[in-house]
Amino acid sequence: MAGPCEFARGGLFVGPAVGAPRFVKTKNSEYDAHVKTIIEPFRIKSIEPIRMTTRDERERILREAGFNVFLIRAEDVLIDLLTDSGTGAMSAEQWAGIMRGDESYAGATSFYRFQDRITELTGFEHVLPTHQGRASERILFELVGGPDKIVPNNAHFDTTRANVEHSGAKAVDLPIPEAAEPKNRHPFKGNMNVAALEKLIADVGRDRIPLVMVTVTNNSGGGQPVSMANLRAVRAVCDKHKLPLFLDACRFSENAFLIKQREPDMKDRTVREIVREMFDLADGATISAKKDGMVNIGGLLLLRDEQMLYRASNLLILTEGFITYGGLAGRDLEAMAQGFEEVVHDDYLAYRIRSVEYLGEKLIAAGIPIVEPPGGHAIYIDAGALCPHIPPAQFPGQAVVCGLYRIGGVRSVEIGSVMFGNAPTATGKPRLELVRLAMPRRVYTQSHIDYVIEAAAELAASKANLRGLRMTHQPPVLRHFTARFEEI
Ligand SMILES: *Cc1c(COP(=O)(O)O)cnc(C)c1O
Repeated sequence: MAGPCEFARGGLFVGPAVGAPRFVKTKNSEYDAHVKTIIEPFRIKSIEPIRMTTRDERERILREAGFNVFLIRAEDVLIDLLTDSGTGAMSAEQWAGIMRGDESYAGATSFYRFQDRITELTGFEHVLPTHQGRASERILFELVGGPDKIVPNNAHFDTTRANVEHSGAKAVDLPIPEAAEPKNRHPFKGNMNVAALEKLIADVGRDRIPLVMVTVTNNSGGGQPVSMANLRAVRAVCDKHKLPLFLDACRFSENAFLIKQREPDMKDRTVREIVREMFDLADGATISAKKDGMVNIGGLLLLRDEQMLYRASNLLILTEGFITYGGLAGRDLEAMAQGFEEVVHDDYLAYRIRSVEYLGEKLIAAGIPIVEPPGGHAIYIDAGALCPHIPPAQFPGQAVVCGLYRIGGVRSVEIGSVMFGNAPTATGKPRLELVRLAMPRRVYTQSHIDYVIEAAAELAASKANLRGLRMTHQPPVLRHFTARFEEI
C-alpha cells in the first residue's frame, strides 16, 4: 500500500505515524515519499444509491416510527450504522463464488471448498455450517446446557445469553473491572476476569459448568479485544479443572489484528498465526459469518470432540439441514469460503481498524465522550456523559439516536436502559447509557464517515435541545426492537 501515490495525499484516514519511517528506500528511485494515508483497499464495481431526505421529512418519519429507529425503513436512512452484522459488501471473487455454487443436496463441492478453507485457517477438522451464529449457539447449548448449569463468558452477546437461558442454564458475565470505565484506555478491555472465573468454579463446582466461553471481540462490551495472554490464562484455568473452552469467534480477525497492534510480544506474528493460536487454545467455537465471515448470511459450529460432533450433526439435520449445507445454499458456502480468506488480509484489516479509530478520534476531538480506546467494529458514544441533563429513566441513549437521525439521517442503536431495562450489570456499577455506531464492512468511504462526524458534532453543539423520552408501548421480550416512545 505504501508507495508513490499522488491520489492518496488528500488525507483519507491518515494513520498515526507510529514509528513509521518518513521515507522508504526503494530499488528504482532514490527515495519515494512514504505515504501514510491508509486507503480503502478496494475500488467500487457496483453501487447502491442513497436517497437524500430533508430534515422535515426525517422529523415526520421519526414521529411515525414512534422514535424507534428499528421501525424506520432502510430507504429513509442515509448512513446506516445500526449494525455490522450481514451488512458488509462482498468482493468480486465472492460474487464469482455465488455463480460457482454447487447446489447438490449432499457432498457439494462448495462444502468441501468451504471446509478446507476453515480447517486451514482455524485448524478445526470438524466444521458444521449453520444459517447464522445463533443457530450454532442453539445446537451447542441444547447439547451442553440445561437446568442447574452455569456458563461463564467475558460478556455474553444477547443471542448467546438467550440460548443459554433457553436451555435452562444460567449465563454469567465475568468482565474485567476496567470494562465498566469508558475513559480507561486499557488495551484489552474485552478480557475475562480470570480470578472471578476461578472463584466461580470454586463456588459452584466444576460439574455445573459445561464449558467456559470467551467472546472475541467483546461485542456487548464496546467491541473490545481479548489479549492472547488472557486467552492463555483462561485456557490454563480450564486445563486445571478439565473444562472445555469455547470461543464466540464472530470477530476473530479484528481481535487478532488488535492483538498484533497492542500486545507487545505479538507484533512480529502474522494475523494468520495469531488467528491460529487463538483457535488452537479452544475446544470449539460458534461463529456468525455475518461479521468477520464477510457475508450477508451464514454461521459455523467448530468442534474437536467426535462424540459431540455426532450429536451436533443430528441436531443440525433436525432443524438446519444436511451436514454439507446446514440451512444454506451452496453459493453461500462459496461466499463464506472466500470471505474467511479476505478478512485476514493485512491491508483490509489496517483499513478496517483504522477507519473505526478515525471515527473515534474525531468524535473525541468534537467533545463527544466515547468508550475508549476504539475497538474493532464500532464506536460507542457515552450518551449518559454527553447528556447529563437527561436522566437514565428518560433514555439519554435513545435521545442521541433520535438526534443523529434528525440531524443527519444517520441510524445508530441504543445500548443502555432501553435495551436492558433495569437488569443488574455484571460489574454492579450503574449501567452505561451507550449509542453504538457500527461500521458495515467495506460499505462506506471516508466522506461518509466525515459526514457522520459532522452530524455528531452538530448534535453535541446543540445537545441542550435534546429531549428525554417516555416509553408508550413496551413489548414483553427484547423490547428495544418494537418499543414506541414520545418526547418529554
Ligand atoms: C452477531 C453475534 C452473535 C449471533 O450471530 P447471528 O448471526 O446474529 O445469529 C453471537 N455472538 C456475537 C458476539 C455476535 O456479535
